[in-house]
Amino acid sequence: MSIVYQVLGKAGHDNALFVWVTSGQAIHRLLFDCGENCVAEVPYTDVLAIDHLFFSHLHMDHIGGFDTFFRSVFNRTSRRNAVWGPPGTSRIMHHRFRGFLWNLNADQPGQWFVHDIYPDYIDRFRYDVSEAFERAHIAGREPHRLPCHGMPQGYPARSTQRGFGRQLLDEATFTVEALHMEHAGPSLAYLIREKPRFNVDRAKLAELGLQPGPWLERVKVRRADEASLLELDGATYELAALRETLLVEKPGESLAYLTDFILDQAALEQLVPALHGYQTLICESQYCHADALLAQRNFHMTAVQAAELARQAQVERLILFHISDRYDRREWLALLDEARAIFPNTTFPQHWGLTEANV
Ligand SMILES: [Zn+2]
Ligand SMILES: [Zn+2]
Repeated sequence: MSIVYQVLGKAGHDNALFVWVTSGQAIHRLLFDCGENCVAEVPYTDVLAIDHLFFSHLHMDHIGGFDTFFRSVFNRTSRRNAVWGPPGTSRIMHHRFRGFLWNLNADQPGQWFVHDIYPDYIDRFRYDVSEAFERAHIAGREPHRLPCHGMPQGYPARSTQRGFGRQLLDEATFTVEALHMEHAGPSLAYLIREKPRFNVDRAKLAELGLQPGPWLERVKVRRADEASLLELDGATYELAALRETLLVEKPGESLAYLTDFILDQAALEQLVPALHGYQTLICESQYCHADALLAQRNFHMTAVQAAELARQAQVERLILFHISDRYDRREWLALLDEARAIFPNTTFPQHWGLTEANV
């Protein structure tokens, strides 16, 4: 199991993020925002297999490349077309879907499900290719599920993982949550986290005088219809007690995608606990700190603020992206230095080639 990611787009241009979440059984492909020329950097087979498109918000630099994706998959039936974003996403996507000449489409398959994420619920709308996307079908309102704690049902409640945002996806091996941030309008921060895995502690097994065998699968994998007791070599064990003793939790990988919002005190108070201990923060840094007033006026962040968030949340690494084209290469590197003074493990995406060595 792993989370693999690629920041899309160049320095000073539109950016986005592609994420592959792999488990033994499946690969989930998630796209976060869709700026101009971003999708072209993704292998075409991966574009065709994108499971979910998540918008932080719908400013032009985050949706400008949507047509490239749409053109590739508009009538696919291989998987569901799912789009997520803040309130108003469905209305704007409707215009995007309608912005072409549609004919000979009556027999075409393909449906799009667009989710408007409010703080307390999600409104879902459906659009059909066969109708030339004319109608917005109301497809349901769901109250927010409280984020689970990333725990497969029935496992010992000793996980340190907690949910803070609105849970959007609860797949077998990972979750996606959204937090509402302020960008002179809502902008969503997204948190992707693998669920913990549970391995058997061999030393504890030996202490109990038990031999490994296929029975361990009954300890590792919970079934709805299982008995609470387990017979082993003539002795009887409580399954719950065996789990508590034998299973060792291994935390999953974690990644946060943060872009286009003001990082004021309220935002820090919301984000620091939510991101505590995350492995990777991919965070915008539109401005250098000398332009902090400009950042505040435009509801954006400075690199120093992004680094301060990473430091307080005690994450492992910070990757800065979505930097302003008002600066030149030398100023971008100075902006990186500002962040590193606060949180040393800060980089730009590696493929930007923006390091001191190649100034
Ligand atoms: Zn932006
Ligand atoms: Zn924006």
